[in-house]
Amino acid sequence: MFKNSFDFLVIGSGIAGLNFALQASEYGTVAIVTKKELMESNSNYAQGGIAAVLDKMDSFDKHIEDTMKAGCHLNDKEAVEIMIKEAPNQIKRLIDVGVGFSKKQDELCLSKEGGHSERRIAHAHDTTGKEIERALIHQVRHHKRITIFESHVAFKLAESKDAIDRVSTPRQCIGAFVLDTDNNKILNFSAKATILATGGAGQVYERNSNPKIATGDGVAMAYKARAEIKDMEFIQFHPTALNKKGAPSLLISETVRGEGGVLVNSKGEQFMKNYHELKDLAPRDIVARAILEEMKHGTVYLDIRHKGSAYIKKRFPYLYENLWWHDIKMDKDLIPISPAAHFICGGIHTDLDGRTNIPGLFAFGEVAHTGVHGANRLASNSLLECMVFSGRAVDATKTYIEKEKSWKVGKL
Ligand SMILES: Cc1cc2nc3c(=O)[nH]c(=O)nc-3n(C[C@H](O)[C@H](O)[C@H](O)COP(=O)(O)OP(=O)(O)OC[C@H]3O[C@@H](n4cnc5c(N)ncnc54)[C@H](O)[C@@H]3O)c2cc1C
Repeated sequence: MFKNSFDFLVIGSGIAGLNFALQASEYGTVAIVTKKELMESNSNYAQGGIAAVLDKMDSFDKHIEDTMKAGCHLNDKEAVEIMIKEAPNQIKRLIDVGVGFSKKQDELCLSKEGGHSERRIAHAHDTTGKEIERALIHQVRHHKRITIFESHVAFKLAESKDAIDRVSTPRQCIGAFVLDTDNNKILNFSAKATILATGGAGQVYERNSNPKIATGDGVAMAYKARAEIKDMEFIQFHPTALNKKGAPSLLISETVRGEGGVLVNSKGEQFMKNYHELKDLAPRDIVARAILEEMKHGTVYLDIRHKGSAYIKKRFPYLYENLWWHDIKMDKDLIPISPAAHFICGGIHTDLDGRTNIPGLFAFGEVAHTGVHGANRLASNSLLECMVFSGRAVDATKTYIEKEKSWKVGKL
């Protein structure tokens, strides 16, 4: 028998998993299974912010066009439109759950990042992901219908047994097998709906911006269960990660360039004007390729010293402190940088409500492929993707568990 039985099994405690869990708990019991501590996720390290049309100079059409351009028009236009039109509501929802976005008087401060034609990035200083996680975790921890399993690693999806032994067609997903790493025990979780919200796969690359948890487990488990996987070749490399011997490849947010930082080559020249009309704020793939070209002749740096010490310390407290530990003072020194693997645009293919081709299995967030990013993600569109598509999946999972009557027990 399965030891743990829930209506919804959510694998992953990033913003996508937490946002879903909170909303789905209205309709049933929820288990959140997560590899390490609840807070450890890509979401927790997001610095820049979350994109939404919030300024009267801006429009949905402009945000849609910027997203399609960054994605080389390989995006699914319908998914893009849904995400962008839903964005302002998601910012409101986050404020309602207690997220403290940076404000001036009563207005949200909006920053600009590469590929955006307007200021539209809501942020909490330079630790936006951490602030969103904090607010969601506070709600989740106090919820009676949500049970949290930290240090639990899912390693296999449980499939129903049916009369015909199918080779190529997926079977219904009825939960997952999970290793409790504190007690070294394998547990069986049964669920009416199983959700993969396991995030990215940056650790596949030697030089990457992701935390240790980002090993692509969700895609691997889904692939083994014969889920449809798409666009795995579209890996985004962030142009500016710290490049100093002995130091980790700490991500230097694009907002540093959005707020006036410039890239300079080993001769001290601002070179981006030679590569793109948007210069330092060109889409990420273009900036990353330009940096690699310049690196053939020496180290490339990011320079924001001209903004002054007081501004830098107030706007980028996290980066200032973390670079200081590596003997770099943002207000006095050039920051040596180079590109690093950052985000996976492809993943488990889903419809616009998180359904995969496997009955009972849903996916959203970075692990999923909805088509919103096309070949290359526009900056700050991924926290947005997590919020929008995890919210939309609530109805789809609720309908699924109401319709589905027969719950079978799987075997390892
Ligand atoms: C340094 C950095 C900065 C970023 N900045 C921004 C930004 O400013 N704006 C923006 O929009 N996006 C940004 N991104 C991207 C964004 O943070 C992620 O795409 C997004 O947070 C992914 O959220 P998620 O909920 O899908 O996955 P994650 O937040 O990665 O969460 C995945 C969860 O799954 C768990 N997990 C994984 N495998 C298993 C398993 N086998 N069993 C159990 N649990 C498992 C993990 O422990 C984790 O809890 C940034 C990413 C990084 C790394």
